Amino acid sequence: MKIHFKSSLISFFIAVYSLFECLYCQQEKTPNIIIIFTDDLGYGDLGIQGHPSIQTPYIDQMAREGQRWTNFYVAANVCTPSRAALLTGRLPIRSGTDTNEGARVFFPNSAGGLPPEEITIAEILKKKGYKTAAIGKWHLGHLPEFLPTNQGFDSYFGIPYSNDMNPTTNLTHAEANADPKIEYFNVPLMRNEEIIERPAQQNTITKRYTEEAQKFIVENKENPFFIYLAHNMPHVPLFASDDFLGTSKRGLYGDVVEELDWSVGEVLKTVKEYDLEKNTMVVFTSDNGPWTVLNVNGGSPGPLYGAKATSYEGGMRVPAIFWWPGKIEPDVIMDIGSTLDLLPTISKISGASLSQDRNYDGYDLSATLIENKKSSREEMFYYHGTNVFAARKGDYKLYFYENNPNGYPEKLGKLDELKLFNIQKDPSERFNIIEEFPEVVKEIKKLLKEHQKNVHPGENQMIKKI
Ligand code: MG
Repeated sequence: MKIHFKSSLISFFIAVYSLFECLYCQQEKTPNIIIIFTDDLGYGDLGIQGHPSIQTPYIDQMAREGQRWTNFYVAANVCTPSRAALLTGRLPIRSGTDTNEGARVFFPNSAGGLPPEEITIAEILKKKGYKTAAIGKWHLGHLPEFLPTNQGFDSYFGIPYSNDMNPTTNLTHAEANADPKIEYFNVPLMRNEEIIERPAQQNTITKRYTEEAQKFIVENKENPFFIYLAHNMPHVPLFASDDFLGTSKRGLYGDVVEELDWSVGEVLKTVKEYDLEKNTMVVFTSDNGPWTVLNVNGGSPGPLYGAKATSYEGGMRVPAIFWWPGKIEPDVIMDIGSTLDLLPTISKISGASLSQDRNYDGYDLSATLIENKKSSREEMFYYHGTNVFAARKGDYKLYFYENNPNGYPEKLGKLDELKLFNIQKDPSERFNIIEEFPEVVKEIKKLLKEHQKNVHPGENQMIKKI
């Protein structure tokens, strides 16, 4: 009888404990999100992606502990529209952030930005009680109404556009970037809406962005947080801190990438230090392919064809790693994914709801991340401005237009004869198989037609020119 009473008591305590544990685990279900977004880092620029002379041990480790996606795309092949797509889950054509008329990115004299009516990941997470920080390159409008603090971020620390803008030298872009000096580029460093340093001391920029992210993690360890850490590097001008300068076999470009790798290591170290790793998803990716026209100062697309500013695989397929120990199954995923999918995926895993008043172009990838199911994305549209240069369905990619493979000068040519590639069998896009698969051509043309019925240029057009 006594024993029975004792075991009932134990069962009771176990039940109470389980209840509390369950309530606690419910609370834990609101994960922290960190997106680490590099600028112009090529598909082939990481150790884990096979680079022969750049060492990235921290990113490689992150990839081994997480999911590395090998068919992961940005929605545009240059900075501004790529960032707009990531933050809104919508094609840049909808927000009017890739006009195809003149400049394809914002400049210091641009009067526009990402329209405030667009809803960013930060805005949806803020509604769920997240603290939100944008650190690094913004490039979605530098005037007050377009800054991160007006797009759902509690704070901003960074350079509001590309680090090669506001040149002060008469040297050509290539010359100024061959041997860069801080004073050649009069770019501001901002804290929220104030300029705090000009020109930004770019040699310590990666280090300072990293410290800012670490500080934000520590300050917000008790509540859910979202950090959008968008490095300016390795976009030219290339700058590394003294600790990294001259240390890589790949030269200055390698020094810069290895410092970014250190940065990833530092961020993950801080997450682990405060026992947040079981409740924090970290995503690492890049905004577009490498700027190969800069020769040795540009990165590598690895086995892929093309570069930044092109619709070839090298321009739009980027490294992508998802890390969330205990939640995301370590694996290499060869299905299709996109930065467009981050907003719906984050919405799903955080329980934040999506606004019903607009079209989204992203898919929720959480079933692949968490349950290793097939990706819900099976197609990709390769926009260049408002034109679709190519479309992918499954393994096949059909070209309607072509670029210069280096990206410059941009050759916006419509193809007289379309080209078809099987980009799983032929990731370097070397063998045109259009004659062999007429039914695939028909299918992709139909897919594009359906897609275009639902997408209109400048659905939210607010880009003004001065
Ligand atoms: Mg870029």
